[in-house]
Amino acid sequence: MTGSFSAVEEDSSQSKLVADRYLKRELLGEGTYGVVFKAIDTKSGKTVAIKRIRLGKHKEGVNFTALREIKLLKELKDPNIIELIDAFPYKGNLHLVFEFMESDLEAVIRDRNIVLSPGDIKSYLQMTLKGLAHCHKKWVLHRDMKPNNLLIAADGQLKLADFGLARIFGSPDRRFTHQVFARWYRAPELLFGTKQYGPGVDVWAAGCIFAELLLRRPFLQGSSDIDQLGKIFAAFGTPKPFQWPEMVYLPDYVEYQYVSPPSLRSLFPMASDDALDLISKMFTYDPKARISTQQALEHRYFTSIPAPTKPALLPRPPPKGESLNEKPLDLNLDCGPVVLSPPRKLRRVTVNHVGFEGDTQNNIVRGDVNDKAPRGVGESGLSGLMPMSIDLEAVFGYTSAPRPKLNSVDRSHLKRKLDLEPEFK
Ligand code: ADP
Repeated sequence: MTGSFSAVEEDSSQSKLVADRYLKRELLGEGTYGVVFKAIDTKSGKTVAIKRIRLGKHKEGVNFTALREIKLLKELKDPNIIELIDAFPYKGNLHLVFEFMESDLEAVIRDRNIVLSPGDIKSYLQMTLKGLAHCHKKWVLHRDMKPNNLLIAADGQLKLADFGLARIFGSPDRRFTHQVFARWYRAPELLFGTKQYGPGVDVWAAGCIFAELLLRRPFLQGSSDIDQLGKIFAAFGTPKPFQWPEMVYLPDYVEYQYVSPPSLRSLFPMASDDALDLISKMFTYDPKARISTQQALEHRYFTSIPAPTKPALLPRPPPKGESLNEKPLDLNLDCGPVVLSPPRKLRRVTVNHVGFEGDTQNNIVRGDVNDKAPRGVGESGLSGLMPMSIDLEAVFGYTSAPRPKLNSVDRSHLKRKLDLEPEFK
């Protein structure tokens, strides 16, 4: 790592020249490690986005993150992965030059003027999975999958961005820090503190993004790690050891009271049977049994009608800075968990299952993805232009968040789990 870093630093004469190549334009935004601004590449005439990362003034980790990003991105050339055009130090900052992207998937999802047809959703998910499959084939995890890291180019192609947290995961002994995901997209194994994880964490996050495309709002909006697991279990049922044998051995495992899941159909009333089947496979608890990105791409959801919309025809919000329609996401963060008083001893609390069909767990039947769904509803049965947006509140009851509670938890566990912010993001 340091080797490649020096190589970039050494060539300062060339970097000056390279820096002269870009005409700086307006600020696009501020990210975790620095600002991103728009620029014109005078050599190609193309618009680019330059991420400026301060060098040397921050703790070592920042530089390593940048270097990791450079190294990985150079190896990851794919139509669904953002292209790193150039990287150079200039005036004490490391500059990463990316192809300019007009929008991102979060902007698409939150633009209420946009209707997403089943074919549109299929297309966005397919591009997401294609980008991920390419990463996974190269033994790289993205690890920070969320809609605002899925950028959209002028030609409609969706591209995975922000590999600042990704890392090669080839070595079996490798340990990872697990608090790196935006919580809502975090897989249960991460929430239970696993130290070794694989591509399944990206598949889970892609499942959350799929759900968000269908629902037009973040699917599982936990306000702490404990609440996040509660939301997951309320949606898919508390996992039993036979479903996920390693679960009970995970470092932060705590027992939750058993709740049975509502039917998937009730969560995604407008989705096709194929979509529900894919969702159930992307949200499989045991990471070893979870569908891979490649398998997901081969799922019949992608070959059944309607076909994925061609990228150029996808609905998009106006390019950055021109949107008049954006409304802030209603994140409902106010209805977060009722924080339990820090428990001194093991405690048992009961299930509050309000929110799923307004019923108790006993009346909720396990959703076989192919049952109950009237044929002809959803993508395969209705017009390809049928909007998939639904009012989740009516179905999911977000106003009173469903929270299966912990059966047992000790003080240190809770303290750790209430550490709300992930380490890097
Ligand atoms: P974070 O680190 O929080 O994920 P980034 O540093 O990636 O944020 O991005 C900061 C801002 O710059 C965001 O508003 C993002 O949309 C914008 N941005 C990042 N990369 C590009 C790009 N290639 N083209 C256009 N805008 C971009």
